[in-house]
Formats: sequence, C-alpha cells, structure tokens
Amino acid sequence: MRIVLLGPPGIGKGTQAKILAERFGAAHLSTGDMLRAEIDRATQLGTLAKGYIDKGMLVPDSIILDMVARAVTDFRTVPGYVLDGFPRTIPQAEGLDDLLAKEGHRLDRCVALEGATETIVARLSQRRSCRQCGTITHLAFSPPRTAGRCDRCGGELIHREDDRAEIIRKRLEVYREQTAVLLEYYQEQGLLSRVSGEGSIEDITERITKELSSHA
Ligand code: AMP
Repeated sequence: MRIVLLGPPGIGKGTQAKILAERFGAAHLSTGDMLRAEIDRATQLGTLAKGYIDKGMLVPDSIILDMVARAVTDFRTVPGYVLDGFPRTIPQAEGLDDLLAKEGHRLDRCVALEGATETIVARLSQRRSCRQCGTITHLAFSPPRTAGRCDRCGGELIHREDDRAEIIRKRLEVYREQTAVLLEYYQEQGLLSRVSGEGSIEDITERITKELSSHA
C-alpha cells in the first residue's frame, strides 16, 4: 500500500501516518522527521534545511526529492509506505510519480485531512514532539505520563521551534499557496479522498481506513 497523507500542518498527518504504517506493516516516510534527524546530526543538509524550517518556509524541491529517492530505495523490501509531509509542491508530486514509475510502483491513494484553522493552531501550540523517536503528544488531549518525557521511549519532549504562533501562521500561508494545489492534482488522477481531521485520533484513523478499504 502506497499512500500520501496530505493536509495543513497540525491536522494530524504525523500521528495518523505512524498508526497506519504500523497497521499495514508499511514504512512511515516523513520528510519533516528526516530533515530534523539531519539537523540533530548537524549535517550539511541539516544546517541548510534549518534555515528554511525555522522561518516556516519550504526546503527546496531538489533537496527533498534527492532525500526521498534515497529513502524509497532503502525501503524497497517494505510492502508499502505512508508518505507524510511529502509531496508539498507540484514539482515534488511529479518527482514522486517519476520515482514510483522507476520502481514499477504506483500510488494507491492520497488522503487529504481537513479541519478548521482554529483546530490546527490549538493543536500545534500545545503539541510536543519526542526528540528521539518523533512521537507526537498533545498537552491537553494526550498528556505524557511523566512531564517532559515521551511515553514510548522516554526521550525528551520538545516544543518545536516552528510550532510557535508566528511560524504556524507562515506555515499555513505556505500550505495554502504551494501545497493546497495538490488536492486538484490528485483529484484529477482520481486518487483523492477527503477526510475530516477533526475529533479523536481513533475516529480519524477509523475514517481513513474506511475510506482506504472502499477504494481497495
Ligand atoms: P513537517 O514536520 O512535515 O511539518 O515539516 C516541518 C518543516 O520541514 C516544514 O515546515 C518545511 O520547512 C520542511 N519540510 C518538510 N517536508 C518538506 C517537503 N516535502 N518540502 C519542503 N519542505 C519540507
């Protein structure tokens, strides 16, 4: 199963992608997580990416496409992947199509999570991410058992620099200007499913899996 999870920052793509990947035995490919890992390792790519991420801007397409091409090759043996935060622009979507064609694969579905701006801002400002394993937690809806520590691996929970109010606004603007056009791109290919990203984590997973099985 190869699916793209689309939607504005904070709508829950990362949380759902992790759950779906586990459920389907697929790889979870998050370009945001990959870039943050590069930043943590202080690589050249990480240093370059940080300049864009901290401003709420997109990292250039060529860098992202190279990074994804390497990951897809690494995941050749896995029975599919859930793409989270990629593609984010038309050139990235076209690059993904080329990459899949080279591997002899095709995309099964693009699931677009949708929700009100207030939901998104509320989620992002209270969101904490594990520095170690990337698990996402919410201070109000899913507070950690031990303050400041990840329930899954005990790693440090951080408030991402780009989850702060003024950067959230910029990221939402970038989404509207550069990423929302992908809804039409996948609609035209007959691959788009629109799913509400409002409500509990379990309800959203249920909606997505129903939608996926109705198109299987
Ligand atoms: P995310 O964790 O998916 O919200 O990504 C965090 C930040 O990483 C974004 O705001 C962008 O600056 C950068 N980023 C992640 N994925 C991409 C992508 N596919 N294209 C460009 N920039 C990206």
